[in-house]
Amino acid sequence: MPRKKNMRETSKKKTKERVKKTYKKSSVKKSAEKKKVEKSYSLEALQAALNAMGEGQTLRQAAANFGVPKSTLFLKSKCIVPLECKKGPRTVLSTKDEAEIVSWIVFSADSGHPVTKSRLLDYVQKYATEKKIDTPFKNNRPGQHWYRAFIKRNPNLSNKIVHNLASTRAPVTEEDLRDWFAKIRLHLEDKNLLNIEPHRIFNAGESTFMLTPKYNKVLTEEGVKAPHQIVSSNEKDTSTVLFSISASGVMPPPMILFDFKKTPKKSVIDKIPKDWGVANTERGLMTSESFYSYITNVFYKWLKENNYVFPVILYVDGRSSQITLPLLKFCKGHLIELIILYPNASHIVHPLDVAIIHPLKDSYKKVLQEWRIDNNIYNFKKQMFPQVLKMALEACDFTEAAITGFRTCGLYPLCADAVNYNILSKQNKKKDVTHKFNSTNNGVQNREEITEGLLKIFEQDLISPDVLASFKQAETDGVWSGDVAYVALFESWLKLKKLCNVSDAEMIAAVSDESSDHGMSDNVTVDFVEVHMPNTDWNNRVNSLSSLAFVPKCQPAREEDVRMLKHFVNTSGKICVITGAGISTESGIPDYRSEGVGLFATSNRRPVSYQDFCKSDKTRRRYWARNYAAWPRFSLFQPNVTHKWLKNMEDIGKVSCVITQNVDNLHIKAGSKNVVELHGTGYRVVCLSCDNKIDRFVFQEVLNKLNPDMKASCEAIRPDGDVDLSQDQIDDFKIPTCSKCGGIMKPDIVFFGDNVPKQVVERVQNEVEEADSLLVLGTSLTTFSGYRIVLQAVEAVKPIAILNIGDTRGDEHAQIRVHGRCGEILPMLTDDKL
Ligand SMILES: [Zn+2]
Repeated sequence: MPRKKNMRETSKKKTKERVKKTYKKSSVKKSAEKKKVEKSYSLEALQAALNAMGEGQTLRQAAANFGVPKSTLFLKSKCIVPLECKKGPRTVLSTKDEAEIVSWIVFSADSGHPVTKSRLLDYVQKYATEKKIDTPFKNNRPGQHWYRAFIKRNPNLSNKIVHNLASTRAPVTEEDLRDWFAKIRLHLEDKNLLNIEPHRIFNAGESTFMLTPKYNKVLTEEGVKAPHQIVSSNEKDTSTVLFSISASGVMPPPMILFDFKKTPKKSVIDKIPKDWGVANTERGLMTSESFYSYITNVFYKWLKENNYVFPVILYVDGRSSQITLPLLKFCKGHLIELIILYPNASHIVHPLDVAIIHPLKDSYKKVLQEWRIDNNIYNFKKQMFPQVLKMALEACDFTEAAITGFRTCGLYPLCADAVNYNILSKQNKKKDVTHKFNSTNNGVQNREEITEGLLKIFEQDLISPDVLASFKQAETDGVWSGDVAYVALFESWLKLKKLCNVSDAEMIAAVSDESSDHGMSDNVTVDFVEVHMPNTDWNNRVNSLSSLAFVPKCQPAREEDVRMLKHFVNTSGKICVITGAGISTESGIPDYRSEGVGLFATSNRRPVSYQDFCKSDKTRRRYWARNYAAWPRFSLFQPNVTHKWLKNMEDIGKVSCVITQNVDNLHIKAGSKNVVELHGTGYRVVCLSCDNKIDRFVFQEVLNKLNPDMKASCEAIRPDGDVDLSQDQIDDFKIPTCSKCGGIMKPDIVFFGDNVPKQVVERVQNEVEEADSLLVLGTSLTTFSGYRIVLQAVEAVKPIAILNIGDTRGDEHAQIRVHGRCGEILPMLTDDKL
């Protein structure tokens, strides 16, 4: 289900101007180089020459060996001219990044997937976004100029890139598809795979489930309240699942993606079948890492366990971003013949979309409905999704559907004639509306056509299928209650729809042809996850925050909101800041709902309460065993942009105090001086009987000595922050008593059921009184100890501003309310551009 997010048309002019400027600049810089010379060597040659020099070759030798002009080589080797601005416009990506992209192209082409221009641009977009590379490109997607310059820099690539393939934007024609089939046939013949058995041919894809699909008829017939009244707002959620199925109808285990901010509890994960994948990604959406994880940890593992004969064929859809270099390498190395289906034609050539997803979703709806009635559950939680999905899968027999699906998609048996090309012409007719709008404005177009075209562009290019699906669900209410980042988009979409004056039913009919391409109205996106990912790097996971190239890059916060916040900061004399778990997520620490207590105070199922901890030896043992195992990882977390920004603001006297609900010590690590740790700190251990306090690192040494057989390591920690320990390990775990009085040792964290120490409360009161204003960052203020500070500021008539991704308990008291990510917005406040 590929989508274009670029808005190249609109930004063309700007890009041109920008590129012109860059050209001018760089041509002045390198006036010494002549144009003809520029073209005569490649980036690789230059690098190789530089490497050779590093290994001892003289400049003259290296220049001759690699065909790089001596003068150029001299300038580069002395770093007089940066490698990156070698030729043409300054390259946006570093040499290393470009080299990585080049090897992806080479590897793709050699594995039978020549890269098209649009795939390349998609890939670069995703690459830049994931690596947080600052590009001048709109939405990080490079345009024509970059492409040309890139090809110029890498002339040896031209035979690896398919130039004649139309951009994926163009309508798919029968000719295109037949051509594709011919190529695939040749490729498979080449590899001697044309006649392998159907059970060794797979199709993998993603699907987004509306967690609570509408049941209009059924429910109203029974005289129950109208469905939208039953559905509570958190149910308007989607979940992404990755599936695969063989041409013989066998379905390997799926993988479910969770939003890593709402990682389900261990008890929920425990209920998920062991061979299923589970992963956490930003908003629970598909990323290339999760796709990779699915293929390697779920799909391939399952094939091995079931003694499959390799090679197997795996058809995946044409979305380029998930076909990364590591994935290609893995497949090649493990005899999985990866074949990318023709882009934009998944509704015709993608068996899962054509034959499986629809019946599965029907089954899901049915099972869910029955299950809700049986269990009397009206408040469906996302955590229940795996259970219901499992039942839905069990209720289906996909054998027939899969056989038919692979046949009508022409994939098994491989046959271009099996495809129903009529669908294409129908679809292309519809696309004409868009084209008409794009191409001309001078005709006698009626307004409806224009708005329809706009709507189409909007739905196809601006928002991803699952977002669209959520929009449709929210349409009835006319109010968007999902991710705040989409508020503006949703409103524009609604306006457009009203302009078009199209009823929902008509709309559904109008898009139904393409529905499988973009997901049925309650649709599907894919992603993969493993059940246990002990090595997951949380920081990487956080980096993948913005890795969703297919998620609309809408403004995270409205500009006027950010301006107001900036004004607030500028005009405040001394700001008292309160922070919560939301600011630590960007350091990779999971955002627990048990905010403030977080990773370090949670037990298997629920946060440890103060009472339990004091009362039960068993609870303490379990708590400390897990805390011990998690410590090496936990203690390594580093402050992020937000912590550093606050430190700088304190340095210039703007921030007078940081009150944090976090126990992660990150403000102190960042260098902030006046920090109040409202809920204590995980970095200290206290005796419950006397005043004895020990540094947590020292305590770890003591635990090490007492438990020589148990190794504390990062491996034991799961992405949800939970720790895998056997009951034996817990039972055998030894904890020391206070060295001074023999009392119970407890982390210096305010547990549930415990009170914030009185002197801390008083200190907070003083800080708020002395400050001019209160700034709330990254907390929903769920715990009263945090909320109380806002109430205090209200009483003292201090202006309040809140910056948080979601709604907060203090919203009604705040003069300024900004929805957004702290790490993104705070730096903007001190940026002169705004
Ligand atoms: Zn003591």
